[in-house]
Amino acid sequence: MSRPPAATAAATGEFLHDLLLDPARHDPGRPAVIEPAAPGGTTVRTYAELARAVDAYATALRALEFEPGTRVLLEAEAGAEAIAVLLACSRAGLTFVPIAPDTPQERLRTLVGTARPALHLQAKTGERTDLPPGLGTARFAAGELVVERTPAATARRRRVPCVTDPAYIVFTSGTTGRPKGVVMSHRAVTAFYRGMLAHHLAAPGDRIAGTSPLHFDFSLLTIGLALASGAAVVPVPQRAVRWPRRFLRALHDTGATHVNGVPSIWRQVLRHEPDRLAGLATLRQVLFCGEEFPLPELRRLQELRPGMRIVNCYGATESMAASFEDVPDPLPADLERLSIGTAHPGAEMILVDEAGGVVDGPGAHGEILLRSPALFTGYWDDPEATRAALVPDPLCPQSGQRVLRTGDLAVRGENGELYFLGRTDSQVQINGNRVELGEVERRLLQHPAATAAAVLRQPSPEGGSCLAAFVVLAPDSLRSDTATTNSATAAEPAAPDQDIAPLLRAFCARTLPSYMVPAEVRVVHALPLTANGKADRAALAASLTEPE
Ligand code: ADP
Repeated sequence: MSRPPAATAAATGEFLHDLLLDPARHDPGRPAVIEPAAPGGTTVRTYAELARAVDAYATALRALEFEPGTRVLLEAEAGAEAIAVLLACSRAGLTFVPIAPDTPQERLRTLVGTARPALHLQAKTGERTDLPPGLGTARFAAGELVVERTPAATARRRRVPCVTDPAYIVFTSGTTGRPKGVVMSHRAVTAFYRGMLAHHLAAPGDRIAGTSPLHFDFSLLTIGLALASGAAVVPVPQRAVRWPRRFLRALHDTGATHVNGVPSIWRQVLRHEPDRLAGLATLRQVLFCGEEFPLPELRRLQELRPGMRIVNCYGATESMAASFEDVPDPLPADLERLSIGTAHPGAEMILVDEAGGVVDGPGAHGEILLRSPALFTGYWDDPEATRAALVPDPLCPQSGQRVLRTGDLAVRGENGELYFLGRTDSQVQINGNRVELGEVERRLLQHPAATAAAVLRQPSPEGGSCLAAFVVLAPDSLRSDTATTNSATAAEPAAPDQDIAPLLRAFCARTLPSYMVPAEVRVVHALPLTANGKADRAALAASLTEPE
């Protein structure tokens, strides 16, 4: 009997690494990754060098003899090595799960318990210690992968990777209080990249700065856009993105022609460094995603960079994104909302009303359903949530085709374009990061002192938004002199216990990423309720404008 084929990419079909490393075959000397390097310099990695690093990492990963689809946690910043490692995972048939280096230890443990990875990968300089037992650990640097703790041997029932296998899993906030793992196959992510390329957003020679951390799939969009176009990706370190001057210096030093990022990366730059921004010689395009760009800030950006292409990218992790729409330049004075356009080629956004019926024509309002070859496979280990999100195509349920319920509301414009109106649920964006308010509420309720909690988004004093939490405390955790004020109205501040708010915030920070930790915690006697008994968020929001 002949031996089974080795675990290599199938002869047909396109894997993530096939598409992204294609320029290495035609133009190996072209820059693939350009990183800022002190002082004022850059480190350039060509496509040939990137491909060599991918080969080296993939060889080391294959030697571990994992089954295709085995999960590998990739805890790293979005630098050249991490890009090589994620492409090596793809080449070795493994599913990478990007996580942030500042992930709280307890959250990491939850992720390990959920995703059940076989291996944890971090840079040689990575600071994570205390990884759960049973998990293999390895470090990477300069094309070399050093295994520190050998992963447990697993049964190998499969050998050949398929394009339907998960390329990666991105964990986002989940309503159940557990992070939700969005599983994307090679077929879906390459279909998305191909749809995106049709918008001519990049060309060989461009330098595309990515400002999102690796665990946010926007970074994968940028890596894909750059590499599939034969351009270079410019990963801007997170520590530079937060400081306007450092950020602009990184863009200047690397000669960035494009910047991809959530709208909030521009806020401090517009406020504190407008002249430097106006003076950037090479910048030609800004692509934003994740939330609406506040129109006054967008106008200011256009004033400072007249003629610069600005692209509104709309979508969700469940399909990486869905549409790319050029922002009119200049914005018409009476414009109220930005268009999110129509879906990228090969996909379609339709609207349904509350009863699930399709609505169409100018002025039609409804929830966006996305029909696309780039849809996620499902939520990791969560068939119920998957069934709720991937629903039968309302136009032809007989076909068996599933479409994505986005949870986004929109209205159709005169030319078929859509305008985003808001959410059907309590998912919010905090500076471009997706947050289920329910996940934060559940965390607060895990604290023994809390008996009820409601969380809302509020404008942040620095611009942008942050979370505010209202918490009702168990009677014995209140100060005795204010514990039983029956006459107190709901949402009226309860015992102004100065200590509990920081305690609750610290409690949240133990398991939640920093953008999910409420900036403000107010202790109240009771949550105000609506007529049907739900927390009255409008009343809570109104009370936020009153002093505590
Ligand atoms: P992504 O990774 O594409 O930013 P997330 O999964 O984090 O997406 O969040 C998706 C949600 O963010 C969308 O369902 C929508 O509510 C909101 N969103 C994303 N892009 C935009 C945009 N350009 N304009 C308005 N809202 C947006």
